[in-house]
Amino acid sequence: MPRGEEDIVTEIDRADLLQQFASDNYAGICPEAWAAMEAANHGHVSSYGDDPWTVKASNAFRELFETECEVFFAFNGTAANSLALASLCQSYHGVICCNSAHVETDECGAPEFFSNGSKLLVAECEDGKLTPNSIHEIATKRQDIHFPKPHAVTITQSTETGRVYSLAELRAISEVCRTHGLYLHMDGARFANACASLACSPAEMTWKSGIDVLCFGGTKNGMAIGEAVLFFDRKLAIDFDYRCKQAGQLASKMRFLAAPWVGLLENGAWLRNAAHANMCARYFAEQIAGIPNVKIASRIDANAVFLLAPEEVLAGLRKRGWKFYTFIGGAARFMFAWDTDLVRIDALSRDLREVAEEFSTVSSPSAVSAA
Ligand SMILES: *Cc1c(COP(=O)(O)O)cnc(C)c1O
Repeated sequence: MPRGEEDIVTEIDRADLLQQFASDNYAGICPEAWAAMEAANHGHVSSYGDDPWTVKASNAFRELFETECEVFFAFNGTAANSLALASLCQSYHGVICCNSAHVETDECGAPEFFSNGSKLLVAECEDGKLTPNSIHEIATKRQDIHFPKPHAVTITQSTETGRVYSLAELRAISEVCRTHGLYLHMDGARFANACASLACSPAEMTWKSGIDVLCFGGTKNGMAIGEAVLFFDRKLAIDFDYRCKQAGQLASKMRFLAAPWVGLLENGAWLRNAAHANMCARYFAEQIAGIPNVKIASRIDANAVFLLAPEEVLAGLRKRGWKFYTFIGGAARFMFAWDTDLVRIDALSRDLREVAEEFSTVSSPSAVSAA
């Protein structure tokens, strides 16, 4: 007899299934992506992207971005970013990025690996944002043959620190890129959250602002797996299909990477999902306002909230079962997803208030100020 869903779920500790806000990739698959996967699970179609779902998804991107871009589907963001950057560079080139960029801190050297050595040229940034000045500085610092030649810039939208570049900031960056002959790549693992935050069109935030290549994140937006790579300058996409195949990123049953995009893009679920996540971040910030010794570390532009709190308070939260990371941005990070339940935010806020109040009554004033 086949095991039912209930049997499998009861084998897992139910406490492990409660919503957590450590990352937006803790969430499951949204109904629209799930339904499209199910719809794609009928009959036989050709493999390796030669199927109607891949065509439909690619066209959905072209319609959404109002341009005839080249579209590719990769399994994850590390591959999408690394292969996109590799396509912009020779091995002796350099890619300017921010010190907190995912390509620098969380991709295990994959951009250098897939580009056969293009070096990341890291700028010290505030708020996780590159500035035209920092790009200019790195682009002009060394012009000699002993240093990698800067050839591309990568920015993350929204940033690893939960901030969003304004259209004016993007345009200023692309202007300095043009001046120095640098291609501009956007890591859009949370592209949808940035779009919802700025209330601008995807076209305005990308090619109309000078972005050459975008990695559009599906995983954190409600898919099981998958990122799309969009080339707005179609010349840059030449042979990218070979690059994906060689890197192990060509799905043979491509329709299951492509179909969920149809579900997300067709009726605007991508933007609704992101808007909900962003709203939840603001809601959390409102719920925890005024808690002693707990400070919101940076402006909330998208779906992240970073908290500064004494180590004892964070430990107290962990003891109550809450999961979160502190290695990003030097603060405790809470990320909200398409499915975030306000009731869980209320529970987290209540726990945070209780542990913080306990701490402030037991701790001496000097301990508080030291924290
Ligand atoms: C999550 C994320 C990615 C993608 O990571 P993978 O684990 O490789 O899918 C890329 N960039 C940023 C900024 C991210 O947060």
